[in-house]
Amino acid sequence: MRQTADNICVASGAEAVRDARHRSEPAEKNGCILCAASLDVGVVGLFDTRFGMPGSYEIHRCVRCGFEQTFPVLALADLKKLYEAHYNFGGETDTFYTRCRERFLFSFLYRFWTQLDGDISFHMPRGSGRLLDIGCNEGRGLRIYARNGFQAEGLELNQTAAAVARKAGFDVHTCLLEEFDPATPYDFAVLSNVLEHSPDPRQMLRDVHRILASGGQVWISCPNSQSWLRTVFGRYWINWHVPFHTFHFSPSTLRQLLAEAGFAQIKVRQITPALWVAESFITFLFAREGKKNGQLRNAFLTALLMVFARFVLFPVLWLGNRRRRGDCLLAVAARV
Ligand SMILES: [Zn+2]
Repeated sequence: MRQTADNICVASGAEAVRDARHRSEPAEKNGCILCAASLDVGVVGLFDTRFGMPGSYEIHRCVRCGFEQTFPVLALADLKKLYEAHYNFGGETDTFYTRCRERFLFSFLYRFWTQLDGDISFHMPRGSGRLLDIGCNEGRGLRIYARNGFQAEGLELNQTAAAVARKAGFDVHTCLLEEFDPATPYDFAVLSNVLEHSPDPRQMLRDVHRILASGGQVWISCPNSQSWLRTVFGRYWINWHVPFHTFHFSPSTLRQLLAEAGFAQIKVRQITPALWVAESFITFLFAREGKKNGQLRNAFLTALLMVFARFVLFPVLWLGNRRRRGDCLLAVAARV
């Protein structure tokens, strides 16, 4: 069964933004979306450390629950333009780079590294049942989920990326998540580094809850706003990623959002991917306001810093994770 392009979904970055086009307002500008309390200015002077886009941003923090949001909140039309300029999959397939990446992703080496470093994309669990990868892009994850035993489908608004995934044999829905009404509910929904891009994460989780079967699970990965790397790198922490990251989750605020959306059996843990450590180092060393940070695509430097992070800093990373101050939150919750 193949869905047509006009009957569904939401997703990563650009998709999350497009999903919110039809909502009246993505977030309350003067209050916490979680508890409605007022916000205080937390971090100031943030700028885009990747693409060199102009603009200064702040992080505002709820005085009651601590939930953090990026300010100013860009108009959805402006954010959509930024995604189209910097994020959208351009259709690169069957190049030397993509072939190498493909071989690596399906190699023993990748499984070994993921075991060692942590699995932010949920590529390790094996199982069965219907799985929806929200923001599946061109379907790399879908191939891995299918290999691991799941009946994998994707949700992706980028038509070019969706077409590539379909060509590989997957059902990919290309409508808004809020309008997505699957005939059969899913057993698993994956939000891998997607939720923090959403202008309305509360609604996104409610929609995910709606499309899951009873007992179905949502798997979430997103940056941890209480990461010790945030303290170390300050304004240069890679996971501020303003203005694309609209909300910043801690273990407790993520739990609250999940519970409010109707989820139970919520488990949240932390990992610290070596890649994220490397990128924070590179940002600290090279990011300049208004200039594109080309070093983030320096494969040699990135690999070198990843090895340093994983094999030299590992006691610190381990301790950070144990103390709930790892860089990435991994959450699993069930629909009841
Ligand atoms: Zn709050």
